Amino acid sequence: MDLLDDAEAMRPDLVRLREDLHRIPEVGLDLPRTQEQVLEELQGLPLEVSTGTETTSVTAVLRGTGEPAEGQEPSTVLLRGDMDALPIPEGSGEDFAATNGAMHACGHDLHTAGLVGAARLLSAHRDRLAGDVVFMFQPGEEGYDGARVMLGEGLLETSGRRPDHAYALHVVPHRLPAGLVSGRAGTTLFASYTLEVTVHGTGGHGATPHEGRDPVVAAAEMVSTLQTAVTRSFDVFSSVIVTVGRLSGGTSANIIADTASFEATVRTTNAGLEPRLREVFGRYLEGIAAAHGVSVDMRLVPGYPATVNDAAEAEFSATVARELFGERRFDSPEHPTQGSEDFSRVLQEVPGALLFLGAHIPGADPALVPANHSPRARFDGSVTSQGAALLAGLAAGRLAR
Ligand SMILES: [Zn+2]
Repeated sequence: MDLLDDAEAMRPDLVRLREDLHRIPEVGLDLPRTQEQVLEELQGLPLEVSTGTETTSVTAVLRGTGEPAEGQEPSTVLLRGDMDALPIPEGSGEDFAATNGAMHACGHDLHTAGLVGAARLLSAHRDRLAGDVVFMFQPGEEGYDGARVMLGEGLLETSGRRPDHAYALHVVPHRLPAGLVSGRAGTTLFASYTLEVTVHGTGGHGATPHEGRDPVVAAAEMVSTLQTAVTRSFDVFSSVIVTVGRLSGGTSANIIADTASFEATVRTTNAGLEPRLREVFGRYLEGIAAAHGVSVDMRLVPGYPATVNDAAEAEFSATVARELFGERRFDSPEHPTQGSEDFSRVLQEVPGALLFLGAHIPGADPALVPANHSPRARFDGSVTSQGAALLAGLAAGRLAR
């Protein structure tokens, strides 16, 4: 089967599908229009399609009709495409830009279209597959833990056989040249936490600050001290990152507020650090609060675990990418990427790999264009067919008879 030729032949339709999805971005676990479109696109394929009970997921099973080689068990491969968008008004300037206040700013529209393409490619060659493919169309990757919801819906039992291998792709509009596949063995993406902090003081008149207990100055000191807390508590190889992304307190210039609050994202590659993170943040925040005569509540809420690629699966993925696209189109980065992903939940259950696919706009400098999650992010939709070929190639490579 020449997957790349077949994928290139369906490129115009996959680009059209990606743009259709781009126009109707939906956020979170409830994506009714996106789900409807995916179901429509899968119609006519020899798939067993089911929809989620807890979320608007779509799971489709393709039964290969090839006979396994003598003495070999048939296996099952899971392929994931996430379908959700972000709650930001689009500023990309594309003529298919969304106008509903949400945006496919992380490129999940390309992932969904790519997985539809993989389902079509593999369906056309099911006689060559000795085993099953499970297509996981997932809502709620962006902070809603949609993968966990789908695991709870029975994702891994859908085909009647637990998947033996799992793969996903993520497009990147910056850094990576278009069409370059990137993947590494071991930790690929960081674990994430949210640090939630509320400082309780005593409000009063801004003209007499000595009579109140000002939570705003205490919170401001906490925000800057958190950076020092990290570098003075963890060595640089622990890879701990803290970014305070929200800070609020008070209502007017001349009023001392009763409370101030902030939230930080915390990232690390080392899940074993969690108790120590709690201890360090608690110690610094309590100490600053005591100095200001205020009190502080702190919560460190776990987000997604680190995404860890199985070493053998990473090597297999590299081989498939090189065979499909050529030796120079695969790259193994030295370091993990600092984002996080709920595909990590699947990889905790099934050995597999998450790969990146360069999707920057032709002619632009990959170092200068906006990144994922920017309202100005633009993706080259034509790489969708390569994504489809790669996902199909990974499944076909594992199930080839
Ligand atoms: Zn994403």
